[in-house]
Amino acid sequence: MRDIKKVGSVGLKTVLYYLVTTAFAITIGLIIANLMKGLFPTLQTSGLAYDPPEKTNFMDVLVGIFPSNFFKPFVEANMLQIIVASLFIGFALLLVQEKRELDFKMVDTMNDVFMKVMEMIVKLSPIGVFCLITPVIAENGPQILGSLAGVLLVAYVGYIIHMVVVYSTAVRVGAKVSPFRFFKEMLPAIMFAFSSASSVGTLPINEECATKLGADRSITSFVLPLGATINMDGTAIYQGVCSIFIATCYGIDLSFSQMLTIVLTATVASIGTAGAPGAGMVMFAMVLQSVGLPVEGIALVAGVDRIFDMGRTTVNITGDASCAIVVSAWEKRKLRKRERKQQAAQE
Ligand code: ASP
Repeated sequence: MRDIKKVGSVGLKTVLYYLVTTAFAITIGLIIANLMKGLFPTLQTSGLAYDPPEKTNFMDVLVGIFPSNFFKPFVEANMLQIIVASLFIGFALLLVQEKRELDFKMVDTMNDVFMKVMEMIVKLSPIGVFCLITPVIAENGPQILGSLAGVLLVAYVGYIIHMVVVYSTAVRVGAKVSPFRFFKEMLPAIMFAFSSASSVGTLPINEECATKLGADRSITSFVLPLGATINMDGTAIYQGVCSIFIATCYGIDLSFSQMLTIVLTATVASIGTAGAPGAGMVMFAMVLQSVGLPVEGIALVAGVDRIFDMGRTTVNITGDASCAIVVSAWEKRKLRKRERKQQAAQE
């Protein structure tokens, strides 16, 4: 974001809005998946290695996201700690830059390099998924693929409920925009996100749609790029639904504390997810790890990830736009109040 002053009152409101809606999203995902888990099968899974870990507890996860030193998270590939360390370092870089010229190009270049590596790995993933899923189909029969339709359905029900309930209420209450008009004006961005599966790619169209709905340009230019990077409600719903799906497949019952852990880790994971196709699935591994679910289970849903991704990206960008509209309305109201006060003082 480069400018720490921007992380002032608008920044605080934006980040709060993003965190609260993401927590709602993951909770909706978990509730829907628990209600509809009758659609999910329990598998013969001897083909997928899984050693049940020791019990995880929410408090340990919460305390555990703060690294005790800088190198350990990178050495141990502890993604949650890496995200938290990155946030601190990002803020510190901005503060240091105020005193001296810092070359951000290096950070940008490293980011591009790591994204490229991820892209290369994701390109190879069809082969890996094929190898992981073959024993599952050999043991359970091809009808197991039908259950994927079930988990896709559950995820899409979650996406739709979140968009209709949470975003409609937010724009109605926060900005007095009718939900019908909101979705109508958002249609071009929604269609682009659905077909491209990239929040970042959808940014220009999203900005246009949000401006048409009354969002201020100075606010969209800050809120939307930030949202495309850290706000991933659709991804959070997907992670909640697929966690329950994988747990059910392995015959594991998740405890309440494990569900809370999923809410926390999926919220942090969504901050760390890049707004690019397939990124949510990479971060999903971290959520599974945090509650001790078998990471290999990702193979079960990886084959149809693009279909999940189209829906989750649509939710992600709609959430960003709703935030831009609501924060703009709040700021306008604040400005009007201030003007009225000044007028009253002059009189
Ligand atoms: N494709 C999503 C986005 O761009 C991220 C994800 O994979 O969940 O928002």
